[in-house]
Amino acid sequence: MTQVPTVTLNDGARIPQLGFGVWQVSTEDIIPAVSKALEVGYRHIDTAAIYGNEEGVGRAIADSGIPREELYVTTKLWNANHRHDAAIAAAQESLDKLGLDYVDLYLIHWPTPAKNDYVEAWQALEEIQSKGWTRSIGVSNFQQNQLRRVVAEGSVVPAVNQIELHPTFTQTALVAVNNELGIKTEAWSPLGQSEDLTNETIAGLAKSYDRTPAQVIIRWHLQKGYIVFPKSVTASRIEENFGVLDFDLSGADVAAIDALDQGNRIGGHPDEVN
Ligand code: NAD
Repeated sequence: MTQVPTVTLNDGARIPQLGFGVWQVSTEDIIPAVSKALEVGYRHIDTAAIYGNEEGVGRAIADSGIPREELYVTTKLWNANHRHDAAIAAAQESLDKLGLDYVDLYLIHWPTPAKNDYVEAWQALEEIQSKGWTRSIGVSNFQQNQLRRVVAEGSVVPAVNQIELHPTFTQTALVAVNNELGIKTEAWSPLGQSEDLTNETIAGLAKSYDRTPAQVIIRWHLQKGYIVFPKSVTASRIEENFGVLDFDLSGADVAAIDALDQGNRIGGHPDEVN
């Protein structure tokens, strides 16, 4: 089987570029979905405290028998827990639910700028990292000004910024800031929550490569250098979304997808989620 490529983060850790996302995966579906993903070959799982499924993720991991060091697990600090003591307690609770001694990556889920407490949260994440509870630390949904502030006021530069990014919402300005600061870009809702699958250009490329629209989009993310974790609870789609390691899009076709941007934000705006 072709190996999933890895991306080296600014702290030297390596992250599998293709993972499995579990937002909105119910208590009922979480164990079968993650088990299926692990069986197919995914080794990177992206969850969050607010998804309410860390216990199921942990159970599927334990049941798989896959050695811990072969897995890459991300979880996220919820918005209500940015203050120091709450953040430490939340990290401990996530580890307990996951049944793990450490996660690979711990993120601030949203900056919640109206509360102006994300720098305190960042300092708590630095402490959580120094305790060994997480290998790497990063942020999610941070805008340029928030990134620059944590870089200036913190002592660790975030390893990643996990942002909404898909063919109709390419976020080129924010990706440029991530790159300038040495922060890797993780693309959430990589398929545009399925909206981008019906785009005409994507459909045409799928036909010409004899692949599915989802495979073309995921391949585009990989060739752009983004870290990506499409979500599905359907076994055949979990397999389909992993079947992207044995073909390449041409440079011209990557550029054709780059040109699909319409500023089509689907999820919440980071300035407004508080
Ligand atoms: P996505 O872009 O991965 O789309 C998922 C939806 O697309 C599925 O529910 C399914 O309906 C459809 N789909 C998936 N594979 C398909 C296929 N092969 N063919 C046809 N349809 C298919 O959306 P997402 O779940 O929003 O994002 C992926 C992950 O990103 C999440 O699970 C989560 O881990 C992460 N995420 C993070 C944040 C954040 O604030 N940090 C926000 C949203 C999502």
